[in-house]
Amino acid sequence: MREFSNEDGQMMIGGARANELVERFGSPIYVTDERAVRENYRNIRDAFKPYMPARVHYACKANAALAILRILQQEGSYIDAVSIGEVDTCLRAGYSPDKILYTGVNVSTKELQQLVARKVMINVDSLSELERLASISTDVDISFRVNPQVGAGHHTHVVTGAKSTKFGVPKDLIVRAYDRALELGFMPFGLHAHIGAGVQDVAPFAEVTDVLVGIMNDVEQRLGLKLDVLDIGGGVGIPYRPEDKPMDVDAYAREVTSRIKGRCSAKTVAIEPGRYIIADTTVLLTSVVDVKDTGDKRFCGVDAGFNTLIRPAFYGSYHHVAVANKFHRPEEFTYDVVGPICESGDFIAKDRRLPKVEEGDVIAVYDAGAYGFAMSSQYNMRGKPREVLVKDGAASLIREAETTDDLLRLERIPSRLMI
Ligand SMILES: *Cc1c(COP(=O)(O)O)cnc(C)c1O
Repeated sequence: MREFSNEDGQMMIGGARANELVERFGSPIYVTDERAVRENYRNIRDAFKPYMPARVHYACKANAALAILRILQQEGSYIDAVSIGEVDTCLRAGYSPDKILYTGVNVSTKELQQLVARKVMINVDSLSELERLASISTDVDISFRVNPQVGAGHHTHVVTGAKSTKFGVPKDLIVRAYDRALELGFMPFGLHAHIGAGVQDVAPFAEVTDVLVGIMNDVEQRLGLKLDVLDIGGGVGIPYRPEDKPMDVDAYAREVTSRIKGRCSAKTVAIEPGRYIIADTTVLLTSVVDVKDTGDKRFCGVDAGFNTLIRPAFYGSYHHVAVANKFHRPEEFTYDVVGPICESGDFIAKDRRLPKVEEGDVIAVYDAGAYGFAMSSQYNMRGKPREVLVKDGAASLIREAETTDDLLRLERIPSRLMI
């Protein structure tokens, strides 16, 4: 959770007043602070500097706004992409193909053909994918994703490294996968695992590093292949609650690199942070449209629902909220902050102490930068909201709000229904 400053009772984001952003751009809006994006990227990159060369692959599924991709491209970031759409978006934002690593699961042959044409690196997820890729081209930089049988995360939906999940080459087949890749004419450069999301301590990362180092040594001993890049994936969590402690990224970098250096062939460590880089850079601003007191509960009705931010409804995630135009005013009542979607599961925050809320107030939902806009939908035929980038008080629109026309643009009514 980032600290936001207070000017005359108004919450400030990147030097701009939250309520003025809503007056100018409407509601709801996602607002991202450019400086915070650069700062987070540099923090995690610099944590590794004292120890060994590191590649930071921004996991762009967390937030793939072109302007944000562009900021990170300027910073020198690599990319972790999970679909051809993400690859093409990153190319559009100015990344060169050799900075993009594609990691898919259940990848179609059609998508492999498109990836080969784009010349990006491919992190192969299965032996079937390897064979199908080889039939298209072997002139591709590949690594393998292994299922490390080490899983962690903030919710069972996001644990990806456990043995029971669908991801990666099973551990006992991984040497065979490299053997087969060499036989087919590939020269694999690395080994990858991704354990899950929202991991707040160093131990699971240390554990997965040990597994990857062990595999690298097996591969070297049995096949004579020296892999250069050891990729521990993403999943570094952030403190969503005021009482949570941020991850100690220095300890993370130190623990991970000390297990690699001098212990295997890898000369470079790769990490794939999504949430860590983008979550706390962005707040969702949503206007209070209706206040309801049922006698035993107070509802603060806002114009953002799970169509705008699905994490609370989907994972039960906590997002801190504040009244942006009554910032730091004493708390008075307990509210559920709820949206306009016709389902009772539609909530943003539950049982929160807030100052007295009135129609027209602006609720700021913290840490909305990762898996916020990216997981939003047009459910109930509500277009996705605007996205705004602020830097030193200057605000720029980076995505226009969707209109009903935008939503209907791809639809067709068969002519026989028009008579
Ligand atoms: C989602 C994902 C990430 C990023 O996860 P965060 O929790 O946002 O850090 C990294 N690597 C892979 C392969 C992923 O699927």
